[in-house]
Amino acid sequence: MMEDDPLYRRRRLRLVEALREKGIQDERVLAAIARVPRHLFVEPALRARAYDDVALPIGLKQTISQPFTVAYQTQLLEVRPGDRVLEVGTGSGYQAAILCALGARVFTIERHRPLLERAVMRLKALGYRVVARYGDGSLGWPAFAPFDGIVVTAGATEIPAALREQLRLPEEDRPGGRLVIPVGGMQQQRMVRVRCTGPGTYETETLHLFRFVPLVRESSQMQRRQP
Ligand code: SAH
Repeated sequence: MMEDDPLYRRRRLRLVEALREKGIQDERVLAAIARVPRHLFVEPALRARAYDDVALPIGLKQTISQPFTVAYQTQLLEVRPGDRVLEVGTGSGYQAAILCALGARVFTIERHRPLLERAVMRLKALGYRVVARYGDGSLGWPAFAPFDGIVVTAGATEIPAALREQLRLPEEDRPGGRLVIPVGGMQQQRMVRVRCTGPGTYETETLHLFRFVPLVRESSQMQRRQP
């Protein structure tokens, strides 16, 4: 079931070239995409399209992000081996695998239990080690904070304060933590990178437009349930 084969490897290398042409320049990110078998993160019926640069359905109205989006977000995270990285929105587990391939220690949270269970099984079968849990990732994961990187793979209406507060402070030998999060409305969001520059100080960059599935926060669900 977990086989890779030359056909998929060739398609994967072609995808890497396509991403390079679309502007992804970080060779370590491209090498990770060249290694991780994306076809094993989608249903068998969708495998033939796994190396097209498109998002694909993974059930429960969710999607595995477009490879360009994964590469773009990962590049912005500036992951170094040994970095602690929190992912909000495990989905298929593909982004988590890319982070593992870059040598990160990966923590990931998903609010749909069946997706989380499937992703954890896949990652384990492929030898990628992550710490995963079910829940609302917009609250972060204080027990494992601070993080060198936090990547949110669902569109937020605003930057959750808890995530910003769980970024690592800069130290002499390492930069402050980076939060990469799409922020906007239902139709489209702008990628935002927040960098921790000191105690309670952050630098924010607003980048390109994307379209993500919504980040669903438990508190907002509770508000909606009220009359
Ligand atoms: N990174 C995933 C992309 C999945 S799409 C991949 O590589 O496949 C985004 C995911 O975020 C969905 O699975 C959705 O259920 C999840 N999600 C949305 N809001 C969330 C929240 N508040 N906490 C955790 N996960 C959330």
